[in-house]
Amino acid sequence: MFTGFYEEIHEEFREVVREFVAREVTPHYRRWDAEHRMDRSVWESAAENGLLGLAVPEEHGGMGLDDYRYRMVLDEELARADALAVALAFHLHDDWVLPAVMTYGTPEQKEAWLPRFIDGSFVTSVAWTEPGAGSDLRAVRTKAVRDGEGYLLTGQKTFIGNGITGDGALVLARTDGSSGRGAEDSFSLFLVEKEGNPGYRAGNQLDKMGLKASDTAELFFDEVRVPLRNRLGQEGQGLEMIKHLLPQGRLAVAAASVVVSGQVLQDTVQYVKDRSTFDAALTEYQNTRFRLAEQQVTLEATQHYVAEAVRRFNAGELDVVAASKAKMWASERAKEAADICLQLHGGYGYILEYPVAQAYLAVRLLTIFGGTSEILRETVAAQMLS
Ligand SMILES: Cc1cc2nc3c(=O)[nH]c(=O)nc-3n(C[C@H](O)[C@H](O)[C@H](O)COP(=O)(O)OP(=O)(O)OC[C@H]3O[C@@H](n4cnc5c(N)ncnc54)[C@H](O)[C@@H]3O)c2cc1C
Repeated sequence: MFTGFYEEIHEEFREVVREFVAREVTPHYRRWDAEHRMDRSVWESAAENGLLGLAVPEEHGGMGLDDYRYRMVLDEELARADALAVALAFHLHDDWVLPAVMTYGTPEQKEAWLPRFIDGSFVTSVAWTEPGAGSDLRAVRTKAVRDGEGYLLTGQKTFIGNGITGDGALVLARTDGSSGRGAEDSFSLFLVEKEGNPGYRAGNQLDKMGLKASDTAELFFDEVRVPLRNRLGQEGQGLEMIKHLLPQGRLAVAAASVVVSGQVLQDTVQYVKDRSTFDAALTEYQNTRFRLAEQQVTLEATQHYVAEAVRRFNAGELDVVAASKAKMWASERAKEAADICLQLHGGYGYILEYPVAQAYLAVRLLTIFGGTSEILRETVAAQMLS
């Protein structure tokens, strides 16, 4: 990010992250990418370095680092190491499940779960999407039926990050027995644990185009018994809670987008300096210089836009429309940046060994998940026209 965005304390934190990445991520990442799964040890070592659940307050064993710039430092260092799949895995745990529990958990739930979120023993997933329900969560069909002191959960989810390697999921399920498109208050959220629940099963691992080291899978729930204490918030409050989680979730994607754009551009500047054709360095072609200049200006404008969203988030003022604007803008720019920078690499840009090729595949997700760009445009327009 631009000079002045971070303070000295963030740079000290960066040293810890950089050391963690060099020791625990870089030596293994190629293998994780090939195996389509990262070792569980990455969670444990991240926990040992205090890098999981940054925002968890001290009373629950955390460091209370709720300034979003710390999360961005983590993203930046993972992007620098070309290890974006780790950033995605941590993002689901830290930007969705953790804030859900911190905001809506009872004191007992916080006591039970937050320490396990930060010590790496309870890796979580977000399980909202279903084969028939992605952008439209009111089409979710997974149901939770009251049964004695809890619920019986039955249904199918898809595209679930950490679905195979994780220990539990924040599941959106229908609780009012309705069918068809549900009402706003038809759904509830449950933190469902895998252990001891044979009906909780991960299906096939999905073969993604990029970010392969993070596992993404289908999940199946077959009459999984969920105690009442695992319901988050009130029955019927599920969609309302998700709306309140959107600002952080979308800010996170905006932040990751600007981080990747910056890294890709930096790599490309180095590449064009080193490469020659027709007895001339690539930097001697006006096309190269113009492309770089355009990307630099776009990057700086995007950095300032995202920085303002981060400032508002830190002040507790980021609403869903502002977060949607930041995500829409930054993720679309990241997609362009990766494409243009890949072109400047020529054929090498198409080879997966080069970070620009990995980034190209990774950024393609950013305009889709956490709200597609089309849904975000609708969100922005709805406010303009209201
Ligand atoms: C790699 C990956 C990881 C993911 N991780 C998770 C995860 O961990 N947990 C989870 O719950 N989900 C996850 N998702 C799901 C993701 O959030 C959804 O894919 C996304 O919300 C879009 O839903 P969909 O795929 O069903 O597309 P659809 O909703 O079917 O949309 C298809 C197209 O129609 C457009 N469209 C839909 N509705 C409208 C509208 N009203 N107006 C205009 N255009 C519209 C969309 O923009 C899109 O272009 C992941 C997805 C991927 C690919």
